[in-house]
Amino acid sequence: MIGQEENILKTYFGYESFRPGQRQTIDKVIERENTLAVMPTGGGKSLCYQIPGMTMDGTAIIISPLISLMKDQVDALQSLGISATYINSSLEQEEQRARLQAMEGGQYKFVYVAPERFDSTFFVNVLRRIKISLVAFDEAHCISQWGHDFRPSYRSIVPTLSRVKNIPVTVALTATATEDVINDIQSLLGIADGNVVNTGFERENLAFHIVKGKDKGTYIRSFLNEHPNESGIIYAATRKQTDSLHDQLSKKGLSVSKYHAGLTEEERKAAQAAFIHDEKSIMIATNAFGMGIDKSNVRFVIHYAMPMTIESYYQEAGRAGRDGEHSDCILLFSPQDIQLQKFLIEQSLMDDTAKQKEYSKLQAMINYCHTHSCLTTFILDYFNDCPSGTTCGRCSNCLHRQERTDITEEAQMILSCVKRMGERFGVGMTAKVLKGSRDKKISDFRLNSISTYGILSAYTEKELTEWIHFLIAEQLLATEEGKFPTLKLNQNSVDVLKGKRQVWMYTAPIPSGEEADYQ
Ligand code: ADP
Repeated sequence: MIGQEENILKTYFGYESFRPGQRQTIDKVIERENTLAVMPTGGGKSLCYQIPGMTMDGTAIIISPLISLMKDQVDALQSLGISATYINSSLEQEEQRARLQAMEGGQYKFVYVAPERFDSTFFVNVLRRIKISLVAFDEAHCISQWGHDFRPSYRSIVPTLSRVKNIPVTVALTATATEDVINDIQSLLGIADGNVVNTGFERENLAFHIVKGKDKGTYIRSFLNEHPNESGIIYAATRKQTDSLHDQLSKKGLSVSKYHAGLTEEERKAAQAAFIHDEKSIMIATNAFGMGIDKSNVRFVIHYAMPMTIESYYQEAGRAGRDGEHSDCILLFSPQDIQLQKFLIEQSLMDDTAKQKEYSKLQAMINYCHTHSCLTTFILDYFNDCPSGTTCGRCSNCLHRQERTDITEEAQMILSCVKRMGERFGVGMTAKVLKGSRDKKISDFRLNSISTYGILSAYTEKELTEWIHFLIAEQLLATEEGKFPTLKLNQNSVDVLKGKRQVWMYTAPIPSGEEADYQ
């Protein structure tokens, strides 16, 4: 027998079957169980509150930080014949009042609001008087102080809502949730462990790539030449970088648009619309762009520089391939990217504990850029989403596994050098000692007198730096996090030093824009 929910899925939305996690979430919400749904971008989170909202009595309140998306969501519901509206600051006062009145009259099944709405006592009082079916927190990670997109206004809704006594059930939805964030959302919204529906993060149509040691501008130009007419996003680290990349590429006649917080609202809106409607195929932007962008045919997301955390990287890269078709997520790494992110952390207004936490997230991001293991597995492991040991077969590390070299001896030299340096220095100084550098700092600390000084002088400092980062990424060497992370030995390092463990490095060429991979 087909249930009411399947019926709605077919007759209203025109879909044949539920996607993973949808049915489970919908059932729990209908049973009035507070629920958290963790699903990848494009996983179909909206239906998880839309179908219950349609079957339950009263008005569903959807809280979303994405004002830009509310109208689209409401238009989509209205086109299916479902009464819906949004109330936010983009409307004239008069219109806001009219919609509130209609809401009080029970005219809507769905009302989308921004967190700021809860600052209005008038609005909260209306909520108290109406029949509510459910409250949905879209982009629920914004509620958590551990989330990369924490919004205090989102969190402060919770105590306000607890004073609105007539809320039968709350559902939270997010695509990005580490254990910390999940726990935080659960405790804030009163969600039991059994009511977390987590479908996992893997997006099987995304292929991750790391590109190192290339001129980034040249790489991008050749990549774009090989992918004419494809839609993609290029994320730059700063507004200045966005502007200059936009200038370079538009001069080459490429169809580019740009978006960052330094532009006027009109400019941003126009740029976004041109990209969404395929008038411009490439969007060059800072991370200000993309939250809530629902464009299905983005074929690639290139990061011009390394972002600060895996959470933000996965979310930004994940804007590729929402239609399920193969898409590439390429990160162009250079060592200077690390300095920029450290500078941003140092400059931020966070307290020391929060900074420490950011540094450890940054270290995971750096490790991602240096690992030789499967990149998909690395990301899933970071989110505790997958047993180690499996590989995706699509990422740049999986694709370039032909040659491997035994570097156990070199690794032993590096590790014993760390030991002899008293485990008090970072990557840069260690590389200098191994190289036998004449840098003044080396002699100041008398590091030129230890036995490993110059022991790997046949290699460049850059190569040695790369190896040390590789050892860290593979957890063969530890770091004590902070602004200047010092290198420490761990049990794995001891095993390598004792010859109980070998170290292999993949030496096959890193993919370039010109190579077959991307054709
Ligand atoms: P999310 O919010 O998780 O990123 P959306 O709710 O925007 O995802 O859904 C992404 C796309 O998938 C939308 O175009 C939506 O209509 C579609 N979709 C959702 N559920 C299903 C389903 N069960 N079958 C087919 N398509 C679906």
